[in-house]
Amino acid sequence: MTERLFQRDAYLKVCAATVIASHADGIILDRTVFYPLGGGQPGDTGLLRLDRGEIQIVDSRHGREGQLVHVPVPDSPLPNVGDEVEAVIDWDRRYAHMRMHTGLHLLGVALPYGVTGGNITAARSRLDFDMPESVDKAETQAQLNRLIRENHPVDSFWIDEDELEARPELIRTMSVRPPRGVGKIRLLRITDIDLQPCGGTHVRTTGEIGPLKITRIEKKGRRNRRVYVEFDSGQDA
Ligand SMILES: [Zn+2]
Repeated sequence: MTERLFQRDAYLKVCAATVIASHADGIILDRTVFYPLGGGQPGDTGLLRLDRGEIQIVDSRHGREGQLVHVPVPDSPLPNVGDEVEAVIDWDRRYAHMRMHTGLHLLGVALPYGVTGGNITAARSRLDFDMPESVDKAETQAQLNRLIRENHPVDSFWIDEDELEARPELIRTMSVRPPRGVGKIRLLRITDIDLQPCGGTHVRTTGEIGPLKITRIEKKGRRNRRVYVEFDSGQDA
């Protein structure tokens, strides 16, 4: 099992680690700062530094038995099992994912409908809602940016499924039903406005997201709307 340092601290850019498996399709470390593709958030890219050079990592994925797989660039030299490496993520890209990801949580607060899908990139993101009626784009964007500017603190904590079971008031406040049968659940809390199960990486306060622009609201079938979001670089928050 790979220790997931990004779950404790999403702002870690580098860590020392030991190689525990090494193949052309993936390198496994005992611990990592690389977030693996999941929950609509892309896997991290970056590099592994060794004594004898660097290995470029082009993707990160969930592997078997709780392991995280660092995918090297094709035809890369590979480390040996037991090698000490420094794992370094492409921070600019990841930080954009963190801001976008947290922004999508706020979009879910602005539009309190069931979420049926979503996708995050460093440049633009989308969220699909079970939303039969469309909403006003400008109004939704204004509300989203107000939630950002209010600068709500963001944190996460682990809870036992049994404890959650015993606190129905907690489940009632959650915008997404927690999964069953997984033991411990990680909850993401945006103070005063949102609580939901989430394993992704987020910024510390909503103000860090910066202004967002809703570029399009698209009809996707009878009941669904797809909302596209980009960073609004032309605006101050
Ligand atoms: Zn999240």
